[in-house]
Order: sequence, then structure tokens, then C-alpha cells
Amino acid sequence: MASSSERVDLDGNQIKPITICMIGAGGFIGSHLCEKLMNETPHKVLALDVYNDKIKHLLEPDNLPWHGRIHFHRLNIKHDSRLEGLIKMSDLTINLAAICTPADYNTRPLDTIFSNFIDALPVVKYCSENNKRLIHFSTCEVYGKTIGSFLPKDSPLRQDPAYYVLKEDESPCIFGSIEKQRWSYACAKQLIERLIYAEGAENGMDFTIVRPFNWIGPRMDFIPGVDGPSEGVPRVLACFSNNLLRGEPLKLVDGGQSQRTFVYIKDAIEAVLLMIENPARANGHIFNVGNPNNEVTVRQLAEMMIQVYSKVSGEQTPETPTIDVSSKEFYGEGYDDSDKRIPDMTIINKQLGWNPKTSLWDLLESTLTYQHRTYAEAIKKVIAKPIAS
Ligand code: NAD
Ligand code: UDP
Repeated sequence: MASSSERVDLDGNQIKPITICMIGAGGFIGSHLCEKLMNETPHKVLALDVYNDKIKHLLEPDNLPWHGRIHFHRLNIKHDSRLEGLIKMSDLTINLAAICTPADYNTRPLDTIFSNFIDALPVVKYCSENNKRLIHFSTCEVYGKTIGSFLPKDSPLRQDPAYYVLKEDESPCIFGSIEKQRWSYACAKQLIERLIYAEGAENGMDFTIVRPFNWIGPRMDFIPGVDGPSEGVPRVLACFSNNLLRGEPLKLVDGGQSQRTFVYIKDAIEAVLLMIENPARANGHIFNVGNPNNEVTVRQLAEMMIQVYSKVSGEQTPETPTIDVSSKEFYGEGYDDSDKRIPDMTIINKQLGWNPKTSLWDLLESTLTYQHRTYAEAIKKVIAKPIAS
């Protein structure tokens, strides 16, 4: 690790070590952020979560080079009086805690709304009252559907970026009707963004809002039946990884026509570190963090993952590589989808000079190598186990 005296921010000022209260530190993004902070910076982390499996390698044993700079606090922010004290002890709070898997949005809308709005309220309140800086994780899903998706299918305007590129300070947030409970998550995230923005405007709270656009990589979600419930439905990377590990067809929801841009977690974490260490450039801003060059349909993603997995595992591609399923069958009543998500990069480029580097093929190759190494043996054992009668 570089010594603190050598480290400077984007304006050439020395970066002073700070204490960060990271809520949701045990999740996918939190685990990568903790790793980055321990490996490359002198900052201290108070890591809050109900789980710590994904950061265990950073907490034990006692002789790790960053020993004493990361402390895990097992707590649920819904009901824990330690939260305010931990925020007060820190210079910066980063809130990652959320229910954020689409399978939950329409089936557990109450938990989704409570987790993404109600449970975040005390965090915002304590930061505002104690003059602490907050970096809050929102989502690209606050944009909802693109304007272009409402145009006739053959309209040439659908090809015009003005109708689909998502801009932090211009694009509207367009959600489906209330019975489409998919939008419970996006709506709760939008309202917490508005509240944080208002705390900034009315009470001068220092904040940064992050809108991740499909960050993917190792440790994302879980593999059903191995390190998560067998009937659980994680996000697409883990769903497709699970299918590949089991030699099953990949399931394409409603034909796999939706489009996404995927960014490698390690690229995205570079952006978050720039936000942490350049408060004067990041405060008061909402940032899209994604890779506009990595756009594919979900069907194309499936096809690429099949090819990459075959390369890294040495296994033949399955005879039936994909099957179509309806969203009602896969997610249940009330599911809806974002059609297309291309982030505009102007603001993050101007403020932080950040650009993603990793191509979709490369990020899938390193991620699927990890998935194969971590899960292939465990899956074989699960498959070999006789089903209890
Ligand atoms: P994750 O589920 O892996 O991590 C969230 C963590 O928060 C989990 O470890 C969970 O245990 C913890 N948590 C949830 N509720 C808690 C509570 N009440 N008390 C304490 N801990 C709690 O998800 P992630 O992918 O790391 O996402 C982190 C944030 O980024 C979320 O706010 C999510 O909405 C947002 N986001 C992520 C993506 C992405 O591409 N990964 C996309 C859009 C938005
Ligand atoms: N999807 C799919 N098959 C799966 C899992 C997801 O076709 O096994 C689709 C899903 O309908 C959506 C896209 O993949 O169109 C991305 O889903 P994800 O859960 O990663 O989250 P989202 O990007 O929608 O927030």
C-alpha cells in the first residue's frame, strides 16, 4: 500500500486517512469496496451488515496487513441503537444496504419498500443532524423505461439517443402502473434520492448519490442450493451461472429482448474510490456508473456466457443452450422490465475523469473462471445427493 503522504486527490491535495461507516459492507459491492480500501488506501472501515461471509477473508486472521483498520459490526439497521454512534464516529457514511434482487420487487413489495426507503431514513437523518457526508447507493432503475419504448415499434426516433440515453439531470423517471409491483424498488429508491437531495438543498447536507448500471463480477448474489436457498432467484449473472454449472438451459425471460449495459465491478469500484477521495468534486452530484460500450440483449448475454463458460471450464456447450420462459412463470404476477439502459457519462467524466475499461468478454471470462473454481465441485455434490423423500 502507498503511504498516505504519497496519495493525492484529483486536484493534487494530499489525501488524509478517514473513517468510513459502510452499511451493507458484507454484500457484493461492499465486499469489493472493502477489499479496495484495505489494499490501496489508509482509510478505516466500520463494516456494518447482518452477514460477513463475503468479507471474512479481510477480517481474519489477525496478521493481515490491514489489521485494525476494518471492524465488523453485525447489526440490522432496522432496529439497532448502535447505528447513530457508528455514524458519529465516522467522517463518511456509505449506505449500500438494500433488498435489490428483482425477484423480490413484485413478490415482497412491502419488504422492498421498507428496505429501500423506510430503513434508509435514519441513516440520512443521522448524517444530516451530525454534519456527516453521505454516499448513498441508488440504482439506474430510477429511470424506469426509456421514452423511446413508448414510440411505435417502427419509429426511426427509437434509434435517436435523445430517446434512450439516460442523463442524471435531464431524463424523467418513467415507471409502470401500481399493479406492476416491479416498480416498488425503483419508486422507493427515487423517493430516498429526493429526500437526500432535499437535505442537501434545505439543510446543507453533503451527499453523493450513485446509480449503478448492472455492476457484475465475482461474489455477486448466490448460487441457489449451494450458498443460498434452492428456490431463490438471484440476478441474471448468478441465474445464468447456476444454469451453466448444472448443465441446464439458460432461461430467457420474455424472449431475452431487454437490453442492459454491464460494467465490471472492479472498474466501478475505481469510480466509488474517486468519489470517496474527491469530496469537493463529488458532493451534491448524482452519478451514473456504468459501461455504455458493453450493451447486449439478455439473449446475447446468455450466448456469450455459454461460449465463455465452455472456454473456462473445458465443457461442451449444452445441446439446448437456452429456453424461453414467460415473466409470469419466472417472476410471478406484477413483473415488468426496463427495456434499455445506456448511461450518459458526461457528469462522471467531467467531475471525476472516470471511464470504465473492461470489455464484456473479458469481465465474463474472469467472473466465470471464479464461478467455476468456486462452485463446480459443490454443484456436483448437490446434484449427486439423493432427493429426500
Ligand atoms: P447485496 O445484496 O449484495 O448487498 C447489500 C447488503 O446489504 C447485503 O450484504 C445485506 O445483508 C445488507 N443489508 C440489507 N439490509 C440490511 C439491514 N437492514 N441491515 C444491515 N445490512 C443490511 O447488493 P449489492 O449488489 O452489493 O448492492 C448494493 C447497493 O447498490 C444496493 O443499494 C443496491 O440497490 C445498489 N445497486 C446495485 C446494483 C448492482 O449492479 N449490483 C445495481 C443497482 C443498484
Ligand atoms: N433474466 C433472464 N433470465 C434469468 C434472470 C434474469 O432472462 O434467469 C432477465 C430479466 O428479466 C432482466 C435481465 O435479465 O430482463 C436482467 O435481470 P437482473 O435480475 O440482473 O436485474 P435488472 O437488470 O432487471 O435490474
